[in-house]
Amino acid sequence: MRICVLPGDGIGPEIIAQALRVLQSLDLEFETEQALLGGCAVDAVGDPFPEATRKLALAADAVLLGAVGGPKWDALPRELRPERGLLGIRKLLGLFANLRPAVLYPELANASTLKPEVVAGLDILIVRELTGDIYFGQPRGIETREIDGLPRRVGVNTMIYSEEEIRRIGKVAFEAARKRQRKLCSVDKINVLETTQLWRDVMNELAPAYPDVELTHMLVDNAAMQLVRAPRQFDVIVTGNMFGDILSDEASMLTGSIGMLPSASLDETGKGLYEPCHGSAPDIAGKDAANPLATILSVAMMLRYSFALEDAAGRIENAVKSVLKRGLRTGDIYEPGTTKVGTAEMGNAVLEALQEGR
Ligand code: NAD
Repeated sequence: MRICVLPGDGIGPEIIAQALRVLQSLDLEFETEQALLGGCAVDAVGDPFPEATRKLALAADAVLLGAVGGPKWDALPRELRPERGLLGIRKLLGLFANLRPAVLYPELANASTLKPEVVAGLDILIVRELTGDIYFGQPRGIETREIDGLPRRVGVNTMIYSEEEIRRIGKVAFEAARKRQRKLCSVDKINVLETTQLWRDVMNELAPAYPDVELTHMLVDNAAMQLVRAPRQFDVIVTGNMFGDILSDEASMLTGSIGMLPSASLDETGKGLYEPCHGSAPDIAGKDAANPLATILSVAMMLRYSFALEDAAGRIENAVKSVLKRGLRTGDIYEPGTTKVGTAEMGNAVLEALQEGR
């Protein structure tokens, strides 16, 4: 297992350090190599996605990323912004499947804006297609057309999916459902959009190959409502790039704790990039205040999805549950009556729980 580690900016190095300690404690055979991505790479070599990082990312079996960006680099020209590094690596690696779990641990039920009885125990996985749809379809742009005899500006985007693109994301979603509660809900808008009629047809064509998974369909407007009305009805949701962008943010906000949410982005071979859903949190960088659990849980996803080490992934997830049960909290998830700890102390607690097999 060759793992390319990209700590990035802001709290990135602090949370990655804790995630690596957890990984190293597992007695697995792997090599890690660190490289620069984002603002730190701009500072060091004048490029948010340097050639050395490209080579390392291509050669690795998985990439573990902290976060990039910060106000220091906001005034730079677009091609030098840290986000360019992020988009660059996603494109280079052909990451078409984005997996975002939204898990609300019972101990953190008060962090949600929804009533605890609606969300406690929530455990959803959103599988979002990441490289197609209206975000990339051609033609696109703002142009002038003659309308009613007058020149008018029009904005144009094209929603397009080929059946191959739908099939490959569908397979990822069915496979993921098999590792969970075996329920897959495909979200579309077939009452208005032909592209999504094809989406639904292809999902139905895939279903017979996964007889153990229950496939259902839902219109996107209803899915947005159901996520706040009765979110626990969902296990895995699969949807296109634009609907997935919106629904995955909605689902993650149900948990109310951004410092807890990991993510995976996969290519066709299962190689993946693993990162927390949050950004570089410049406001708390260097203060030992960041929650490292999203990054530690991203390591668990890496072991599960890129290396098929389900047992090791489950051990990390159990250790995280155990430190929450013990009442340990970083500032972002702190409530009166619990114990506030820093980034490193939270890392220590996860390590202890792992060693004790809790
Ligand atoms: P952010 O996620 O960095 O921070 C939002 C709020 O959540 C802040 O108050 C922050 O302190 C808090 N927070 C985030 N992660 C936390 C953690 N692990 N523990 C405790 N608190 C945490 O979002 P933002 O402030 O909008 O963006 C800051 C920078 O991060 C920007 O430059 C943005 O472009 C970048 N960003 C990067 C990524 C990425 O690398 N994938 C994603 C989003 C934003």
